[in-house]
Amino acid sequence: MLSTEFKFTEEFARKSDENDPLSSFRDQFDFPVINGKKALYFTGNSLGLKPKAADKALQTELDDWAKLGVEGHFHGKNPWFKYHEFFTEGLAQLTGAKKHEVVAMNGLTANLHFLFASFYKPTKKRFKIICEEKAFPSDQYMIESQLRFHGIDPKTALVEVGPRKGEHTIRHSDLIDTIHANADHLALVFIGGVNYYSGQVFNMKAITKAAHQVGAIAGFDLAHAFGNIELELNSWQVDFAAWCSYKYLNSGPGSVAGVFIHENHGLNPNTPRLSGWWGYDKSHRFLMEPGFKPIPGAEGWQLSNAPVFAMAVHKVALDIHCKAGMPSLRKKSIALTAYFEFLLKEISKQSTDVTFEIITPSDPENRGAQLSILVHGKGKDLFDKVTEMGVIADWREPNVIRIAPVPLYNSFTDVYQLVKILKKNI
Ligand SMILES: *Cc1c(COP(=O)(O)O)cnc(C)c1O
Repeated sequence: MLSTEFKFTEEFARKSDENDPLSSFRDQFDFPVINGKKALYFTGNSLGLKPKAADKALQTELDDWAKLGVEGHFHGKNPWFKYHEFFTEGLAQLTGAKKHEVVAMNGLTANLHFLFASFYKPTKKRFKIICEEKAFPSDQYMIESQLRFHGIDPKTALVEVGPRKGEHTIRHSDLIDTIHANADHLALVFIGGVNYYSGQVFNMKAITKAAHQVGAIAGFDLAHAFGNIELELNSWQVDFAAWCSYKYLNSGPGSVAGVFIHENHGLNPNTPRLSGWWGYDKSHRFLMEPGFKPIPGAEGWQLSNAPVFAMAVHKVALDIHCKAGMPSLRKKSIALTAYFEFLLKEISKQSTDVTFEIITPSDPENRGAQLSILVHGKGKDLFDKVTEMGVIADWREPNVIRIAPVPLYNSFTDVYQLVKILKKNI
């Protein structure tokens, strides 16, 4: 779909939905209801919607627990002792990984700490970390505490790359230049693959290459990238990555997260790690012998047995995502976000009180499903009014609205309705 064909009409939106091969996926999700009507839901970048099939999947595990007790580990419908294995194929597909490079486990921030334990190995000479300025708060605290854990003052070791004055996104060349400028002391480049605030997508392949050129490790937080953009972590040679499953992956609040560990490290039993019994060689796990023998690959980073109830929902959501397929989702996402951008520009022309400045990059290559909009004028008033009218979006102080048209369940008509409501209130 070309943006020159876009029209600010209900008919155009409806026709686009009719031509959308993914339109039926919407029916597989429960939408919140506001004032007796299905909400216009645009916060799938924060908490994705609930798959209708989640109840049954969860009930299956509860029933097995009731009927089998501990025997559910081996004789359940989906035996719990190998529950994490049910995710291997889907996670590998969504991240462009080999199957032995991914595993579902823990929560996101916990996983980042575990990955730093393996991949941030500061020496007297190499101890610096490059990250993006104003990273997601949890990532900031994680990095800072890791540095202090190693007895390093963040002031001397943390190099943050931010947008230039008057700009809202980070120039790729600034990131690469910073890597080279710190070549001798750089231990790790750690960046959000898609920035949570601006929606900017980073060139992970090029960043990884630059990090490796200077002898550093490259890792990514994929909280906003996983299920949103296409990833090729294996061929990009990314060293490690982690994500959560409750944003674009719709697996429920605080559901189980996941990690990628490149086979270059994962298949090496000597890669250092903090270990637990679930990462131990499967055939001998229950012999409970001293001395840790890791499962080859990312599975060898597991600590605990699988949180089956959270994972049951994750499995349902992952299956839906894989069925839709990331290439098709991305194709629709690019069109849907471009349509939203087009409509916003249309109403911005007409307004006097409020103007919109989109801070997310305009090139589809450099953004995912989200547009972050600086609202000049009565921003919070507008946001409150729009919320009353059944729109669920995200407000960030002082004046940014983040809106994510999610290709799996949002329609062109949703986007049209949203902008019509915005138009009425500016
Ligand atoms: C959502 C998000 C988190 C959340 O971390 P949890 O450990 O899942 O609570 C962390 N980092 C980034 C970049 C995020 O977008």
